Amino acid sequence: MSRPPPGNQEQSIPSFRPRGGPGFRPRMPYNESGGGGRPQQQGWNNNFPAPGPRGAPMGYPPPSNFSGGFPRSDFSAMNRGGPRRGFGNNVNLAGGRMPPSMENRGGAPFMASGSGGDYRASSVPNAGPPLRPYQRGGAQAVVTPTAGRGRVAKKPGGARQVDEEDQLIVRPLGAGQEVGRSCILLEFKGKKILLDMGIHPAYNGHASLPYLDHINVEEIELLLITHFHLDHAGALPYFLMKTKFKGRCFMTHATKAIYRWMLADFLRVSQGQEQLFTESDLEQSMEKIETMDFHEEKEIGGVRFWGYTAGHVLGAAMFMIEIAGVRVLYTGDFSKEEDRHLCAAEIPSERCDVVIMESTYGIHVHEDRQTREHRLVSQIANILHRGGKVLIPSFALGRAQEILLILDEHWKSHPELQNFPMYYASALAKKCMSVYETYTGAMNDRIKRISAVHNPFKFEWIQSIRGREDFDEKEPCVVIASPGMMQSGLSRELFELWCSDPKNGCIIAGYVVEGTLGKLILTEPTEITTLAGQKIPRRCTVDYVSFSAHTDFKQTTDFITALKPPQIILVHGEAAEMGRLKMGLNREFENTDYKFQIHTPGNTRSVSLNFRGEKTVKVVGTLAEKRPRDGEEFSGMLLKKSFTYTLADAKDIANVTDLPKTELTHRVSISYNGSLGNVANLMQDICSDVELTSETEAVFLGILRVKKEGPCLIVEWDGSALADMLSDALLGMLVHIQEDEPSDALPKQSWDDVSERRRYFDAVRQLLSEVYGADCITADEEQRTMKLDVKGKSAEIFTDDCKAVTADLGFRSSLYTYLARLYRSMYPVDFWCHTEAGLVI
Ligand SMILES: [Zn+2]
Ligand SMILES: [Zn+2]
Repeated sequence: MSRPPPGNQEQSIPSFRPRGGPGFRPRMPYNESGGGGRPQQQGWNNNFPAPGPRGAPMGYPPPSNFSGGFPRSDFSAMNRGGPRRGFGNNVNLAGGRMPPSMENRGGAPFMASGSGGDYRASSVPNAGPPLRPYQRGGAQAVVTPTAGRGRVAKKPGGARQVDEEDQLIVRPLGAGQEVGRSCILLEFKGKKILLDMGIHPAYNGHASLPYLDHINVEEIELLLITHFHLDHAGALPYFLMKTKFKGRCFMTHATKAIYRWMLADFLRVSQGQEQLFTESDLEQSMEKIETMDFHEEKEIGGVRFWGYTAGHVLGAAMFMIEIAGVRVLYTGDFSKEEDRHLCAAEIPSERCDVVIMESTYGIHVHEDRQTREHRLVSQIANILHRGGKVLIPSFALGRAQEILLILDEHWKSHPELQNFPMYYASALAKKCMSVYETYTGAMNDRIKRISAVHNPFKFEWIQSIRGREDFDEKEPCVVIASPGMMQSGLSRELFELWCSDPKNGCIIAGYVVEGTLGKLILTEPTEITTLAGQKIPRRCTVDYVSFSAHTDFKQTTDFITALKPPQIILVHGEAAEMGRLKMGLNREFENTDYKFQIHTPGNTRSVSLNFRGEKTVKVVGTLAEKRPRDGEEFSGMLLKKSFTYTLADAKDIANVTDLPKTELTHRVSISYNGSLGNVANLMQDICSDVELTSETEAVFLGILRVKKEGPCLIVEWDGSALADMLSDALLGMLVHIQEDEPSDALPKQSWDDVSERRRYFDAVRQLLSEVYGADCITADEEQRTMKLDVKGKSAEIFTDDCKAVTADLGFRSSLYTYLARLYRSMYPVDFWCHTEAGLVI
């Protein structure tokens, strides 16, 4: 693979497009002079219901493909198109992969960078020399050196013509001002991506789905799942198996492994309710899920993405998505705090333009871990010592394992508790455990150290049980049971059985969603309604010690401080928490240099962010050898790969890209009776350099080779714009001449009637005398031939054969026209046709 020579320079140039070409779409230039280059922000309004064309996903015109306006046809610089009268030479250069240095890796499209200074072209009217028209096979840019890397200033208020292609739309279809059914639509440059596919734990069946009816599922190219929690992956089997989704779906290896059991557990605990998918849908959905490692970069249709550790549950990822150089980070659920088994969330070191982040805990600041652990174990000990049973509702997988690790360790060091049994109750408890055992390598150093000695998930003091039948309910005990919010399943069943006894206690150890029993009992109601509809008293104690690994205000502030994204979009939080977080962050940074905007869209509401329609082009090869001067024009071949552009001289293509270079030699054979001299005469009018290299060979302009071979003329040239044009002209003329041949209109048989032959001869002589003058004609009445001498050109005419012989092709062509037209006017019906029966009139 060849590398571009040193001295590459990136320049940001205005959108190239052919002026008035077939793909041309007029577009208003941005009329503000913003320095540098960063996303433009404007025009978002959170208060209106998804308006206008944006709000109507079906009616929303898909942004035209980049290649429409300007384009892949850049590769066609080698493919001089156009109808070619049958001598087609279409060249299809399928794009090869460019070397990494051409992929604008790490470079922002809005920040031009290069050795020896930064350059940015401007499309601002009057800001420099005007752009030269786009030229076929090349592109030109005016480059204006600018000092430093700037960021585009925020748009001054007021309406502005915005190209839809430059709008990045973020639209929660779930998790907008709520927790649950996470599903966020990301739309930019015609690409549509979904982030997460969760269900809402407070609802059942279709009501728990994200607002998928607001999108055309078939248009979604990519779906990324951050982690296996139901509010992020619960609708995935439905989405993959029951909708028209045709795109690709990615998650980490651990997420995929746990997703399978998590969802199987969900199916079991929600038996008896409307279910969105079956066990076999879940099984089959596994085949449609692709996996990736953390930091592994993938590219689908020009969209690049990679994941970071999110520190929330095993396998949880944050995703960075890059489309056309604009980077969006979706955090999913994340925690910056290292716990007993997980690493803390990473902070991406790369710049990002937009952060879509969870806001679950708003401005709340978590108690430190020791305090929380202490509260948990002392509360459990209290309940046990008073003779009660402890219920800890929890998801089967994820935070349950953290709690199990805490409790097992505590039991180990507290012999007085060891008489009280602890149960981890899940229909799939054993399977869940074995998945966790498999992935210890993906956990933190503490777990890795322990696992070198023994299996950290083989608990000494905790038994895995499948259900109620496996343990003695009469004695005080601790039961960790799914689901975490007690919507149904074993945790619900046990709560209903135990809640009326004041000795018992329920400890909520994770985030509980509005509308679930888990959330309701935190208000300590005196009675609850069972699933069967009965009202029963609630006398047990209810405590809340959260071990859910979500970011808190302190972590969020640190995270934002490190990333400094210009745009923050909050999701996965109740409206009030979101509002508080927004205010909290604004306050936190109000006296700093860091400027940003925070959005808190509700479900189906769009946040539109405008990114400047400027494209960065990397100039490579010989074009980049010299440092550009102010206002200098560049001309070369523009190559587009995904959303990055490279400008190179055509002759460098083979060196600076790994595009295959193809040279085509065209050879056209055309039937032609005339001499090569005639062809040379013809070409003299349009081409100054005509060289007859031999009697049968000629070269025009040094590029078009013509050979006479018997009744044929062979025209040969190497593909180039000029040679293509010249060959077109020559072949066009030859075809034209042949079309004028009158022979097919003339009698096929000999003329038996001599008087008719003579009549035709006389008429020809009279016509030519009128055209050229009688002096020019020497006629032989006997032979019915005549000689014609006109201004140095001579011709012999045989009227019996309707034939003219002359070295001058143009002259010959004219004479044939006279002969044919005269003949056709005298004998409009060809009565010279003979049949076997004789002459027919
Ligand atoms: Zn989660
Ligand atoms: Zn969540």
